[in-house]
Amino acid sequence: MKRVAIAGGGIAGLAAAYELAQLARRGEPVQAVLFESSQRLGGIVETVREAGFVIEGGPDGWVSEKPWARQLAEELNLSSELIHSNDTTRKTYVLRDGDLKAMPDGMRMMVPSDLTALDTSDLFSPRARQYFRDEPSRAAELRASAPMHDESVAEFVRRHFGNEVLETIGAPLLSGVFGGDVATLSVRAVMAPFVTMEREYGSLVTALQARAGNSTPALFTTLRSGLGTLIDRIVASIPQQWIHLNTEVSAVARTVEGWHLTTNRGDESFDALFMAAPVHIAQSLLSPIDARAAELMQMDASSAVVVGFAFADATHSLKLPPGFGFLVPQGSGSLLLACTFMDQKFPDRVPEGGRLLRAFFGGESALRLMRCRNDEIAAIARLELARILGPLPEPQVTVIRHLPRSLPQYAVGHLERMAELNERVRALGSLWLLGNAYRGVGLPDLIRDARAAAQSLVACAVS
Ligand SMILES: Cc1cc2nc3c(=O)[nH]c(=O)nc-3n(C[C@H](O)[C@H](O)[C@H](O)COP(=O)(O)OP(=O)(O)OC[C@H]3O[C@@H](n4cnc5c(N)ncnc54)[C@H](O)[C@@H]3O)c2cc1C
Repeated sequence: MKRVAIAGGGIAGLAAAYELAQLARRGEPVQAVLFESSQRLGGIVETVREAGFVIEGGPDGWVSEKPWARQLAEELNLSSELIHSNDTTRKTYVLRDGDLKAMPDGMRMMVPSDLTALDTSDLFSPRARQYFRDEPSRAAELRASAPMHDESVAEFVRRHFGNEVLETIGAPLLSGVFGGDVATLSVRAVMAPFVTMEREYGSLVTALQARAGNSTPALFTTLRSGLGTLIDRIVASIPQQWIHLNTEVSAVARTVEGWHLTTNRGDESFDALFMAAPVHIAQSLLSPIDARAAELMQMDASSAVVVGFAFADATHSLKLPPGFGFLVPQGSGSLLLACTFMDQKFPDRVPEGGRLLRAFFGGESALRLMRCRNDEIAAIARLELARILGPLPEPQVTVIRHLPRSLPQYAVGHLERMAELNERVRALGSLWLLGNAYRGVGLPDLIRDARAAAQSLVACAVS
């Protein structure tokens, strides 16, 4: 019987435990012990349900085009719970000169598929619009200017569309998902499809137009009752004796047979270790064993504060422009990073007449807010939102979540560093690094990766 230790009960650790439980059910000689330092499972994923509102503390859904989260939900008999974003109102705004200006229709991140749509939007200056229009005719030059090595998102976007597009939508779009700074984020790690488009077409606009017509599903998928339901179902399908809450892994050591873990339950030996704690913790646990691996795991991670405000009977008292929400570029004079209009993105998440806003603070603003009390954070968030949306009614429910170091930054050279880290991990043997610092930050990637790790462990045991 192979005994596997899983350190960390976020979605990555849980998806690995789920897969191991499935394999054990099918007769594979494997069992796991999952150590979670806090008193609850799910990590960043958490759903609060109150007064008919479904309020997410962390992620609110996943990108539909990646199938792995949906597949897992279907296996867990959650098909009837799957809902899609209401793409008829799919519009995103950007705060510019104090006003919310709509992004032109048909944008995929910062690339327009329909150049005529630029004419109906006042988001960009005439100069930036001209940059967009000229990009297809610069295809040969752009392909030739693509560096052989990795570059930053800022350099990549600037080469195609200039600085204004980078600052107005590139930076806020990416810092919302990956944290950190576009000047250091790796384009190959965080915008890989666009790098491929450049390689094939030179022009990103032309590449996107060539793909137009492929039917795109709704942009986002989620569960009606919240992503907490996914966590609950996963947990219910794992043998309960595998799970240990309030159990922090404080040291790990490599032994001849496998791995030795120290927790507040004592010391235990295992055949394999799935390290699914946040990267800064994983790094400090592994540094006595492999200093170079720990060096490769050294990365900045930005923090987030999420504030959810639920308003009852507010469709008249709180007027919102149609759409999913807005982004706030740096230097706009607001502490906010973004705000989602949850009742318009996923209408099933609120009671009749309800409104649900989720405000995001990132980077420096998040760090400053984390030093405040929650009532102060709520007051600041209301003030910041009211400056943009107008006066807000009194919320019926307020949910505040502090997510320190929750968004690891994939800096330039990330893929090369991860390739070397993989080699080190392979050499150590019986070790898998899981979680959002390595091969993707979104739920589908984390689920795919963790399940594949469990399968490869069993395959190694058999071969
Ligand atoms: C604000 C925000 C919004 C997001 N929105 C989306 C979205 O809409 N869609 C999407 O796909 N992704 C989204 N993401 C990304 C996604 O939510 C995360 O990447 C993912 O949840 C991380 O899961 P994880 O298991 O890697 O880490 P975590 O959720 O951080 O889990 C790690 C776990 O390890 C535990 N732990 C820590 N130290 C120890 C220790 N020493 N011993 C034992 N346990 C330990 C922690 O308590 C925690 O439970 C968002 C992220 C943030 C921050």
